[in-house]
Amino acid sequence: MHCGKLIKADTGEEVPHCRVCGEPATLTFDNSKLDRCDKHADRNPCAIEGCRRSTDADGRLDNGEYWLCGTHWKIGVPPRSRMRRQYHRYLRKAKAHGWETRAGAKDNLYRQRFWMFWHKKLLPSARNICEEGRVDVEQIHRMFGWDMEE
Ligand SMILES: [Zn+2]
Ligand SMILES: [Zn+2]
Repeated sequence: MHCGKLIKADTGEEVPHCRVCGEPATLTFDNSKLDRCDKHADRNPCAIEGCRRSTDADGRLDNGEYWLCGTHWKIGVPPRSRMRRQYHRYLRKAKAHGWETRAGAKDNLYRQRFWMFWHKKLLPSARNICEEGRVDVEQIHRMFGWDMEE
């Protein structure tokens, strides 16, 4: 996850920081996961920790659990994988039953299922794969002796 508040070394004071880039935040909220700097005032971060790519928030800031950047989408949910097929199936159903929720309308059951799938299945799996990817790179580097310092 995107890490907690930064602590200033000299004063021990908590400094809110942007959840996209980590710079000091100028926009702060009760939910610190929404904190943003000027540059990212209307951007939402990629769901993979440490990734600094962001997407247009369109006035709806989120906690960084709703979007994967192109790179992490390809790595975390590989083309032709079971997860990718399931994603399309859930999305298709949700769209077929009316993706947009009209004011006063009951929330679309299929859209709820889509987001359930996204949060409970797709995202944890994508995060695992992306994190394993990082470990693999380190292992490869070690195997080829690319980090001789250690
Ligand atoms: Zn920022
Ligand atoms: Zn990313």
